[in-house]
Amino acid sequence: MMIIPKASKLDSKQIKEIEKIVSEFDCNILEIQGHNQCVYAILGDETHALMFKRIAGLSYIRKVDAIESPYKLMDRRSALSDHQVQVGISTVGKDSPFIIGGPCTIDPNEPSLYIDTAHALKEAGVNALRGGVWKPRTNPYSYQGDNKAIEIIIQAREETGLPIDVEVMDSEQLTIAMEAQVDILQVGTRNALNYSLLKEIGKLSAGTGSGVLLKRGRHVASPNEFIAAAEYLVAEGNPNVMLCPRGTTPALDGYRNHPDESITPLLKNRTWAPVIVDPSHSVGHAEYVLACSLSAIAYGADGLCIESHIDPARGIGDDPKQAITPKRMKELIASCREIWAHRYQVKD
Ligand code: PEP
Ligand code: MN
Repeated sequence: MMIIPKASKLDSKQIKEIEKIVSEFDCNILEIQGHNQCVYAILGDETHALMFKRIAGLSYIRKVDAIESPYKLMDRRSALSDHQVQVGISTVGKDSPFIIGGPCTIDPNEPSLYIDTAHALKEAGVNALRGGVWKPRTNPYSYQGDNKAIEIIIQAREETGLPIDVEVMDSEQLTIAMEAQVDILQVGTRNALNYSLLKEIGKLSAGTGSGVLLKRGRHVASPNEFIAAAEYLVAEGNPNVMLCPRGTTPALDGYRNHPDESITPLLKNRTWAPVIVDPSHSVGHAEYVLACSLSAIAYGADGLCIESHIDPARGIGDDPKQAITPKRMKELIASCREIWAHRYQVKD
């Protein structure tokens, strides 16, 4: 059950009054801070008709929603349906594709490669910078990341003014990222169903304005499983969730994964959350990234998360294989905008 107050948020006296009512039914109230409006979720066995009636009767309540859904907060019909995710100065998916770009992995020994890439990507027109500080590597002997790299991406944010996206895999990394006020916390495909981590991220980032980019689990997960994972974040108080299809396994022969940008309309039909497709991990080769990006925008994606490096051959992690140059990024953004505009013409 969700409550929307008449004002932009409930005052403490009103919260106490509702707490008293819901506690009689063994339920709790949770504040979910949207950009302009707070909504409140009633958690627990919240289907009591009497509780519904008593809350709906309060003079300061605009609406009480009781929708039947496995993901009642992420559901398109929920009180959050007009919630818009704000990252830095951008409202994700509003006027043009929201583009996150940057290397797979920040090389802590070559900070200038990252900083120069960041400047070139700003010039190319990206809306946010990505960069792996800690890396989930299949091979335990591959480069695993370095706390030092967080300083480099912070410097890039300071110099470019662009918001930053960093993947976190555990509580310690989450604490460091939160201290750095990372604008987008990324949850990778390997942790996409790590419900304890999702809960912790949702709880610690609630009310901070941070976004969360949730990748799709790499096995072939149904749209509902994907959306339900995002529900964990929102149910802990952070509604700034973006869903990120990034290809599934088994891979299509020749690609790194099985491209899955076609899941986008199914997600957008069921949930209000923006969809940001990651073509880089999907196809896994720089030469196919453009086609996958255009396809994603045609399918209705709100944006893209693309690996890009000023000199891919000198990059680490996935960069030598799948990063595109900032020059290609600029061309890609221009082409995506054309499809985006066409999409709206078709709709009107
Ligand atoms: C990444 O973004 O570099 C990454 C590791 O992605 P994924 O979790 O999708 O593999
Ligand atoms: Mn990568």
